Amino acid sequence: MVELRGVHKSFGSVEVLRGVDLTVTRGEVVVIIGPSGGGKSTLLRCVNLLEPVTSGRVLLESEDLTRPGADLNRVRRRIGMVFQQFNLFPHLSAIDNLTLAPRKLLKVPRAQARERALTLLKRVGLADKAGAYPRQLSGGQQQRVAIARALMMDPHVMLFDEVTSALDPELVSEVLDVMRDLASSGMTMLCVTHEMGFARELGDRLVFIDGGVITEQGRPADVLDRPTHERTRQFLHKVL
Ligand code: ATP
Ligand code: MG
Repeated sequence: MVELRGVHKSFGSVEVLRGVDLTVTRGEVVVIIGPSGGGKSTLLRCVNLLEPVTSGRVLLESEDLTRPGADLNRVRRRIGMVFQQFNLFPHLSAIDNLTLAPRKLLKVPRAQARERALTLLKRVGLADKAGAYPRQLSGGQQQRVAIARALMMDPHVMLFDEVTSALDPELVSEVLDVMRDLASSGMTMLCVTHEMGFARELGDRLVFIDGGVITEQGRPADVLDRPTHERTRQFLHKVL
């Protein structure tokens, strides 16, 4: 489904990813953890080529996204991404945030886009907030709008980069509930998160990234309860 082969990424002389190999199968939920600055966000951004890789290959459904001439716009439509900061358009209502890209990029007719948007807003529990502007929504509501917006393009893969980190604790669970629903619907997901409960419950695999390489991975319960590397142990000791 998603395959990273020997991915290196440098910013100037700083090598941030130092040879990452990772295969995510269809419907798999992979949770990525690791210390700050270890390269987690960079890794996600390389998957949808928001960052070009320095060397190595990224494949999506066997298509090499890193080959010269790859159609990046078409590729990105198949990959939804949600960030820590919700990044909603402040001057657009929730429903208009959802319909903008499909209408502009895919030329979906307005009525059809709105119908799909309402279905998705309902799915994330916000049917009654379609007309609300971002400033009128709580952080958890904004993040759920951001997830619904990403789903508008019918992505084959969803990337989540610490989507609950900016939320007040009581709002975290409403966003995790939406992610749980997505995971159980069979969505392929790559999630950077500090929510170890989520990782344990929903992750098919937990990947620990440190210093730009995967240093440990396995079933979440195994990695969390019996880490084999000292570095993983130290990290978990701090976050658990
Ligand atoms: P955090 O847990 O704090 O979000 P992270 O694991 O997501 O950290 P990244 O954001 O991937 O880490 O950053 C990895 C390293 O790459 C850091 O040292 C960072 O300073 C550097 N870096 C990231 N983006 C850029 C950029 N656009 N230009 C230069 N350096 C960058
Ligand atoms: Mg990050």
